[in-house]
Amino acid sequence: MSVPFIRTLRLKVRPESHAWLNAAAIEVNGVFNYCNQISLATATRTDRKRKWLSGYDLCNLTAGATEYLQHIGADTIQRICMEYAQKRVAARCRKLRWRVSRGARRSLGWIPFKAASLKRKGTALRFCGKTFRVFERERLEGVSWKQGCFAQDAVGDWWLCLPVQVSVEQTVAPKDSVGIDLGIKDAAVTSDGERLEAIRFYRDAQHRIGALQRRGHLRQAKRLHRRIRRRRKDACHQFSRKLINTYQTILVGDVSSLKLAKTRMAKSVLDSGWGLLKRFLQSKGECAGRTVQVVNERNTSRSCSSCGALSGPSGLRQLAVRRWECAHCGEWHDRDVNAARNILRAGSRCGTSVSGNESSPVEPPPSQTSCLREAGSDAQRAAA
Ligand SMILES: [Zn+2]
Repeated sequence: MSVPFIRTLRLKVRPESHAWLNAAAIEVNGVFNYCNQISLATATRTDRKRKWLSGYDLCNLTAGATEYLQHIGADTIQRICMEYAQKRVAARCRKLRWRVSRGARRSLGWIPFKAASLKRKGTALRFCGKTFRVFERERLEGVSWKQGCFAQDAVGDWWLCLPVQVSVEQTVAPKDSVGIDLGIKDAAVTSDGERLEAIRFYRDAQHRIGALQRRGHLRQAKRLHRRIRRRRKDACHQFSRKLINTYQTILVGDVSSLKLAKTRMAKSVLDSGWGLLKRFLQSKGECAGRTVQVVNERNTSRSCSSCGALSGPSGLRQLAVRRWECAHCGEWHDRDVNAARNILRAGSRCGTSVSGNESSPVEPPPSQTSCLREAGSDAQRAAA
């Protein structure tokens, strides 16, 4: 069975167009800031005409603005208005942050457009009366797009981003289910004992980044940052792909990288890429027809996966204990594999299929009756 799936193509724009794109981005910022200002002004006026402007209202207000702009066209302005209205509602704020065009804190460039304004022309692309060349243009062959954007990264390079529809074959994995324990010593350990080695690309490079920054080589420092980001992403992509290809059901602990990022472990947590790994598992799983579940992680490192007694190491002080013996049944455990096994058990006991977003860290507890029924069926299975 094949299902349609949206995938974003990212193609690097050749550097000769960067100057034009930079200039166009300043105009985009102007339109965006106008939307921000007018939307706040209409929402806070004191007479009866107070209201929140929708994307269409903003389009009406900005109609004809192309006359005063040299680079961007009407469809870009319309998309900015729509995106602004959407983002403001999603952020639940009275106004969004201003887009800054100059200085050290400037916003990264962003130029949205609709399908019709980006056309193929020979080996190049045509946008707003200007010809663009991109690297890897063969990836554009045979795809059609509805909309897209030019986006700038921190280094200053421009990328053409096009969401395109692809059809993906859904398959059945050879193995049944697996639990994954996320950690800092090893980034991830599965209940079968497979490990994703700790991702610490940032830790390894931070003295080099610091040296570059002190010498004033900011662009090089940003390049190094980008390289680290890409390596982390690549490692997470590879590991998640391997898991998705092997297992049908994948259970992950509900450790929240956003919460831990506020503690002293922040650097290690963010460097290890838990959030990335979860996100990739989710999107790849959805794509391939797998189940990815998030499981409550409480006591998973403390309890013994063979007998269930809470005999393992607990607390921060015993974090260094990597191997331990269960006082109850005498089984030797590797700390992380044991935790992963517990996650696997917890998931198969009270399976609530939820998407593991960071935004929903608290799961609704499964109802008592369903738990009892499942426990009962477990007992029956054990007796049989
Ligand atoms: Zn035990």
